[in-house]
Amino acid sequence: MLVTLREIPADAEITSHQLLLKGGFIRRVASGVYAYLPLMWRVLKKITRIVQQEMDSTGALETLLPQLQPSELWKQSGRWEAYTAGEGIMFNLKDRQNRYLGLGPTHEEVITSLAKELINSYRQLPVTLYQTQTKFRDEIRPRFGLMRSREFIMKDAYSFHANQECLDKTYKSMDNAYRNIFSRCGLKVLAVEADSGAIGGVASQEFMVTAEAGEDNILTSPDGKYAANQEKAVSIPPMAKPLELSKDSLIETPLNGSINSLCKTLEIEASQVVKVILMLGKIEGKKPQPILISLRGDQELNEVKLTNAIADILKAEVLDLHKITPNQLKLEGLSELPFGAIGPDLTNDALSKAKTWSSSFLRIADRTAIDLRTFLCGANKLNLHRICNGWEGMPKDTISADLRNSQAGDSCVHDPTQRLQEKRGIEVGHIFQLGRKYSDALEARFTNEEGTSESFWMGCYGIGVSRLAQAAVEQNNDEHGIIWPISIAPFEVIIVIANVQDETQLKLGEILYQRMKDSNIDVLLDDRKERAGVKFKDADLLGVPLRVIVGRDAKEGKIELLRRLDRQSIVINQQDALKKIIAQINELKPPEFQ
Ligand code: ATP
Ligand code: MG
Repeated sequence: MLVTLREIPADAEITSHQLLLKGGFIRRVASGVYAYLPLMWRVLKKITRIVQQEMDSTGALETLLPQLQPSELWKQSGRWEAYTAGEGIMFNLKDRQNRYLGLGPTHEEVITSLAKELINSYRQLPVTLYQTQTKFRDEIRPRFGLMRSREFIMKDAYSFHANQECLDKTYKSMDNAYRNIFSRCGLKVLAVEADSGAIGGVASQEFMVTAEAGEDNILTSPDGKYAANQEKAVSIPPMAKPLELSKDSLIETPLNGSINSLCKTLEIEASQVVKVILMLGKIEGKKPQPILISLRGDQELNEVKLTNAIADILKAEVLDLHKITPNQLKLEGLSELPFGAIGPDLTNDALSKAKTWSSSFLRIADRTAIDLRTFLCGANKLNLHRICNGWEGMPKDTISADLRNSQAGDSCVHDPTQRLQEKRGIEVGHIFQLGRKYSDALEARFTNEEGTSESFWMGCYGIGVSRLAQAAVEQNNDEHGIIWPISIAPFEVIIVIANVQDETQLKLGEILYQRMKDSNIDVLLDDRKERAGVKFKDADLLGVPLRVIVGRDAKEGKIELLRRLDRQSIVINQQDALKKIIAQINELKPPEFQ
């Protein structure tokens, strides 16, 4: 069943999505829901096999966990609400006994509850379990085909340990296994430091396929010593220019002016301004919390860092966080707030009329703002700004934290002569030290060597198998179609019989097909009654790495062997065909895995 499309499907924005639809690898069934057609299923099985082999070689054990998960487990971990309410991504349902269930977006809860029942003693540790199965996430913006879908295939592994050192060891061996997996799949992947949430100190690393279409921003140093997801990246920003005006002075400013226009009018630079952003946090077990964030005018807010800082300050989970709009202020009875001219010292009186919100601000300022000696900021009166001489007069409860996005051009911390560069990346894998977050929450404990009971140390390790397949296409294609890395190609060789009406061509094609199958080569025979040109075009589109063309020269026992990657072709005798094809297959494999 080979059904290729002539036109590029209108709803596919990025190359890999277009090519997979056009080549008949996938079909959309609903938003973010795709059928993997036979060609794609072969690719996915090959990737899965590589993943399994590398997981097995770390000593991990394969398992299969239920996709239907009881709400009780998610309530114990404290994630039920965040995952099902508001922008939560867990599909959930009620069964005929009125019990709530979720469709697994991930499996920490289930696996931790199993470990709790099955592992009692340090003697049974460490243990790593893994599975490959369909995950469900009701993504807010499903897009780009298999890149961000609502039903997708993931390999997820979870490890249990008696201590941090043991966790470190498994984490390292997973890192190594992941590097093997990606290079065996023929992918160029960059390992980057990743956010590990509010529980500080634990390691987290993402594996990124660098591509323009990637949804993640990555920052790297030219010397290759530093690479991090922008969510996590740290750096030294350009120095702020000292502001020369020294006395406190009030300056009239137009309503709703941007920082840039403000700076232009006053002939100052954005780095000399402290801008204030008001956000509202939904914090576990608390009233909605207004947050007053101060940033240097030339810096951008990093919401991941902000979320972590809030969770760390309040020792509670941040369920939701968004900018406060003028309309929200109105609904809350706070329309008198000097929106657009707020300074870091806006007093809590401004919240005294709040109906449902907490009546005091949580004040957090980025370190680069705190470092400013003189700066311009809102004067807490509409259309008015003022020059401040430092932070002395500012509220004492302002907490300093790293809240800014690192950017291209910033100096690196490890070597300030190195300047960060920005790239886009597709996250294909993620390894993560969970520490004791879930084992504490679910009271999953074991008896240690001293005979006392303690929570497991845990790690989790994911690979987006279906996303990886598409990322491989995004990284390996040309104007004619896909160029599959041979190790995950649906077939290694495609035999195209130019004219099937020609008995000699047909016979030779079939003989070669049989010979290759007997030698365990993954081979596809295109003996459709189409014109040769149509078949060549399809072969280009499908991206099978090697093509054998049986054409007019068949009567002389000659065939053409074409390599999809560089379109180099040679004419060979049919007797030599097998040997030459096997040699080329080996040549196309990544060097250490032939
Ligand atoms: P993202 O930040 O892209 O939403 P994530 O960090 O939430 O992903 P993890 O929970 O780390 O994802 O899941 C492990 C892997 O599963 C990811 O590295 C990614 O490759 C894959 N994955 C996650 N979400 C999706 C999705 N919606 N569609 C396809 N693959 C996904
Ligand atoms: Mg991730």
